[in-house]
Amino acid sequence: MKYEKLRRELVRFGKRIADEHLVVGPGGNMSARSRNVMLIKASGVPFEEVKEEDYIPVGIASGKVLEKRGRPSSELPMHLACYRVRDDVKAVVHTHSPFATGVASAGVTLRPMFPDFVAIIGSDVPTLPFAMPCGEEIAELVSGAIVKANAALLGNHGIIAVGHNLREAFYRAMLVEAAAQALVAGTSVGKMRFLNREEVAKIRALSQVQYRVNLLKKGE
Ligand SMILES: [Zn+2]
Repeated sequence: MKYEKLRRELVRFGKRIADEHLVVGPGGNMSARSRNVMLIKASGVPFEEVKEEDYIPVGIASGKVLEKRGRPSSELPMHLACYRVRDDVKAVVHTHSPFATGVASAGVTLRPMFPDFVAIIGSDVPTLPFAMPCGEEIAELVSGAIVKANAALLGNHGIIAVGHNLREAFYRAMLVEAAAQALVAGTSVGKMRFLNREEVAKIRALSQVQYRVNLLKKGE
């Protein structure tokens, strides 16, 4: 089977998405890029049941399905848009993480609140208005955000995170959910204090943070 190693990684991180309860049942989807092709999860297959052959190759420029087997995720346009606007994006994770979806649906933006938020997500996390799933409207909104951000909250829907590899995209998705949980916890007991610009810049410049960021970027 072609793209064997990438398929193995997709299955492995798909199981982790299910284990971490970032989706329920067949919700959410994931893809990874190999040069000018992306492998995207087949429509309707839950992450905990997904097999290597359930990842369908699609041409990034053409949007054409390259294997006549199964049907790619209905969020295909959103995934294609991420790869088309950024050459450095090699993986896209889309989940329906409960806390992040709640925060997104309240129209609240996640702001840097702890060092790992700055180090791992590495950008702001914009909150996008609701757009009908599965179409060009949501793809356009997402690509507009992903041009300058590594993750975004999708109003009344979920989250999207991209990375230089699957591991980075997965950890970014995890961090977005952790930050949403921290925001809910913080605001329920008091007034949240966020990191200011100066603190964010200093955290980014820490050699320990840069070392960890570079380590995460390595590999596939
Ligand atoms: Zn979705």
